[in-house]
Amino acid sequence: MILKFTFEYQSTSLVLENILLRELKSTTLTGKLEKYGDFVSLYVKGGEEELQDFADNLSINVPYSLFLKDTKVEAVDKMPDKDYILPNYPKRELPFCPKCEKKAFEDYDPFVKCVACGYSFKSSTLKYKNFAKIITNDNEGIFKNFAKVLKNGAVAKIKTFNGYKSISLMNQKNFEKIKGDFDLLCADLESVDKICSIGKSEMLALGSFEKPILELFVNHNFLNIFPFIKNLSKVRVRLSNDLILDIICKEVKALGPCYIILSDCDEQKQYNIEIDFDSKISKNKSLEAIVLDDGQSVITKGDLGLVPKVNDGFKDISLKAFSNNFVAINDNEKIITYKKSKELPPILDTFTLGEGDLSYEAAHGAFYTVLSEHSLLDKTMAGVYFSKINNDRIMINSPKFGLVDYIIFDFNFPKTLSKLLKIMKNENETSSRLVENFMTKFPDFYKDELKFSKMGNIYKLWGVAAIMLGMQNDGDVKKGALKLIKYAASFKGKKGPRIDYKLKKDKNKPKLDNLKAIKTAMSFKLAGIDFPTLSFGVMESFAEFASNILDDISRDYEMDGVCFNGSLFESANLINKFYTITKKNYKVYLHKEFTLDDMNLGYGIINAACKK
Ligand SMILES: [Zn+2]
Repeated sequence: MILKFTFEYQSTSLVLENILLRELKSTTLTGKLEKYGDFVSLYVKGGEEELQDFADNLSINVPYSLFLKDTKVEAVDKMPDKDYILPNYPKRELPFCPKCEKKAFEDYDPFVKCVACGYSFKSSTLKYKNFAKIITNDNEGIFKNFAKVLKNGAVAKIKTFNGYKSISLMNQKNFEKIKGDFDLLCADLESVDKICSIGKSEMLALGSFEKPILELFVNHNFLNIFPFIKNLSKVRVRLSNDLILDIICKEVKALGPCYIILSDCDEQKQYNIEIDFDSKISKNKSLEAIVLDDGQSVITKGDLGLVPKVNDGFKDISLKAFSNNFVAINDNEKIITYKKSKELPPILDTFTLGEGDLSYEAAHGAFYTVLSEHSLLDKTMAGVYFSKINNDRIMINSPKFGLVDYIIFDFNFPKTLSKLLKIMKNENETSSRLVENFMTKFPDFYKDELKFSKMGNIYKLWGVAAIMLGMQNDGDVKKGALKLIKYAASFKGKKGPRIDYKLKKDKNKPKLDNLKAIKTAMSFKLAGIDFPTLSFGVMESFAEFASNILDDISRDYEMDGVCFNGSLFESANLINKFYTITKKNYKVYLHKEFTLDDMNLGYGIINAACKK
């Protein structure tokens, strides 16, 4: 009998393939691997009972992955002729698989090496500092004592495989010490379920191999367990993504509930309690994800070994491409993108454009990356890119006419608050009355002159709106935008007020009437709408507006689908709303492996250029 196990798997990391081969090797069964596009199939030959055992083992040892879209098992007549040989990629630094975890727990050794999942750190000696006492060469003792010390309320420093972290158990004293953002590290999904509203898809995502951070609404139980936390509606939740944290969680849980405050910390700062080790770590950022309304997950941020990096090594460079902050190179085998930094490899020590090098806009790079990942370069596609850092654009790419910017959101506001108010007042009588009424009702809002930081995209438009609405009381547009997004995220309702986003013609090109959006928001504030509802309306209406633009495009062009990305979509409200509306009318494509606004800016353009 031959069973064919098929996995739809949108990752190039080879983790799934390696785990399947490892599982096959651990038996006496024969089998072959096959790969077509995103489909990986393992054919296994054997008796019925042996195959049942094998299937059971797979279900334990193949971890759920954010990249795993579907699985299927079927009986087939014959094996494929050829065996798929895995490409010889350098291993990426990824979290651990179930087998690694088992081994680490048995030996209290976080330095496990795994040929399958890629988890691999140079064996090293753990050093534990507890005030004057230093302990080494006793991992079990170290972890057990460390858990006790945490339980007693200590704030400690630990070296994880993703950088140094400050770690402490969630209690009032420790919570009050937190400055800035923190993650709530939980021992397991059960602990998360106790304190957060979490659905099945979010459970799957949180516990997946990639171990992303999810922002979840807290429930009543949370407020009972942590009564000292006020005004917090959502919390960044995660499970361990390396084995040091994993062993710590296991030991803390053995002593009672395990809710840990984890935040970045200064490597140089001395703590009374520390766990350290010598071997070098790469300081990758943990992944962050959003689960969409239909259960699909999108990886929004982080760089946990998802795409090839410069230090993976490369051969002769055949093509180079530059955008605002990224360089992409092709060495005839693979495409590597990386950020501008001081630590460039010597061969790339210059960011000057040479002969034959490509230069491109960030939005175009991002659009072409989704097109490349899904092989859509020969289709007529709309591309939507909304970013916190770059200009926003809606674009069209077609094999007939190439790449066209349909609309660029790049506008200028007056440099000061008084100038902005003057323009608004002079627009027409309604605007003038709105501003007068607003200033009478909220006399404190506009009493100081404010200077706005430089303008450009929708993110900054929201920042100005936040300032005008009184959410942000200085001229910091970025901070204002972040506040508006946070308010929107705390909104638990379904519908916000309708904010007017309208296009006006400017030199025959469509342009967003940016003041109109702000003015409608101001009139809702006058009507007494609270900040969370109003902020949600600002985002929801923008998603609807952008989707209307797509409808305009589709009247003129036969569109095969819509791609979208950019860091503005890191907001769960915006991405969910836009995704849900767009999906009703078009085929929607998101990145397979890239995050929303990072290495994706480099990959696509060079990939498209290589294919020409
Ligand atoms: Zn492993």
